[in-house]
Amino acid sequence: MSSRLIYLDNNATTAVLPEAVREMVPFLSVYYGNPSSAYSLGQESKKAVQSARRRVARLLGSLEEEIVFTSGGTESDNSALWSAVRTSGKRELVTTTVEHPAIHRFCQELEREGYRVRRLPVGSDGRLDPADVARAIHSETAVVSVMWANNETGVLFPIREIGEICRAQGVLFHTDAVQAAAKVPINVAEVPVDLLSISAHKFGGPKGIGVLYVRQGVPFLPYLWGGSQESGRRAGTENVAAIVGMGRAAELASERIHEYADRVGQLRDKFERTILAGLPEVRINGHPTARVPNTCNLCFQNVESEALLLELDRQGIQASGGSACSTGSAKPSRVLVEMGLSVREAYASVRFSLGWSQTEEEIEQAASAVVEAVRRIREKLPAALAAK
Ligand code: PLP
Repeated sequence: MSSRLIYLDNNATTAVLPEAVREMVPFLSVYYGNPSSAYSLGQESKKAVQSARRRVARLLGSLEEEIVFTSGGTESDNSALWSAVRTSGKRELVTTTVEHPAIHRFCQELEREGYRVRRLPVGSDGRLDPADVARAIHSETAVVSVMWANNETGVLFPIREIGEICRAQGVLFHTDAVQAAAKVPINVAEVPVDLLSISAHKFGGPKGIGVLYVRQGVPFLPYLWGGSQESGRRAGTENVAAIVGMGRAAELASERIHEYADRVGQLRDKFERTILAGLPEVRINGHPTARVPNTCNLCFQNVESEALLLELDRQGIQASGGSACSTGSAKPSRVLVEMGLSVREAYASVRFSLGWSQTEEEIEQAASAVVEAVRRIREKLPAALAAK
C-alpha cells in the first residue's frame, strides 16, 4: 500500500471524527456503568445516552422519544420492515429494485415466509416515479420502503412525494436514509415518513451503531426482546461509547451540513469534470444533479473496474466497484443492471465517494491518476475489442 492514502470510499464507511473519538474514550474506561443501574456511575452513562439522543434528534428534526438506538443500518432496516408487517397484519410490501441488501435480502426472506413484495423499477437515471408507488399500493400493503439516497449512485428519491402518497392512503412509509443523513438535510417534522434508518459510520461516527426513527403514534413491535432499554423498543445493554460517538458526529453534521454540501459537492464536480474532460467514453451513472453531493459513479467503456481498482489501489487510491456489501461477489452491480446498464457496462463502473476532510489536492491527484490508469488499460486492449 502506498504511504499516502486517498480514501474515496466514504459510502462504504468513514473515519471516525477525532471529536467523536475524544468523547467516546471516557465511556470505555472511566464511565463504564450500565445506563440501567441506579447508582451514579450508571447514571453518568444514562445521561450520555440521553444527550446523544438529543443530538441525533436534532439532526433528523425529530423528538427525542422517537429515536431508537440500534446496532446499525441493517438492524434499523430489518426491524422497521418486521415491525410494519407484524403490526399491520398485512401481507404485502412495496419497495424498489435498487435497495441496499439490508432491505432487499430481508424482503427475500419475507417472501419465503409467504409475504408478497412488489419491487418498483427505476429509470435509466436511477430515479423512481412516485406515481408508480401510488399505483402499487392497495388494501393488503403493510409498508412502503424506499431509500432516501442510493448507496452506489447517490441518486436521491422523491421521499416527500412518496410520503404524502402513503399518508393519503394510510400506509406506513419507511425510508433507508443511511446514505442521505448528514449529506442532505433531513427534517421528519416536514417530510411524512413513519420509520427512518440511519447508521453512524457513514457520517463520521463509529461502526455498529445506528438509529431507527419511529414517529410518535406509529405502532412498533420490537425486533429484539429482553430488557426494557430504549423504552422497550430495543432490548440489550446500550453500546454507550458508540452512542456517544454517534451523538457527537450527528451534532457536527447538523452544524456543517450546508458547508458539506457546498465544499464536497464542488470537489466531486471538479473530480468528474477532470475525468470527463481527460477521457472519451466515460459516463456518469445516475441522475447528474439529483444526487447526494459526495458520490460519483462512472462507467468507463472497455475497462474492467477490477483492473482499474487494482491499479488505483497500487497508488494508494481507494474506491469501489459497487457497494462494499457486494465486494468479492462475482456478480455485476444489481443496482446498475436495474438501471438498464449491460452486464459489461456494470463491470466497467466504479464508485468514488468523497469525505468531509477531502482536500482539493487529493481530488486533483486522484482524478489524474484515474485518467492515466484508464488510458493505460485501454492501450493494452486488443484492437478488435477497443473498436467495439
Ligand atoms: N442501507 C444503506 C443504503 C447502506 O449504504 C448501508 C451500508 O452500506 C446499510 C443500509 C447498512 O448499514 P450498516 O453497515 O450500518 O449495517
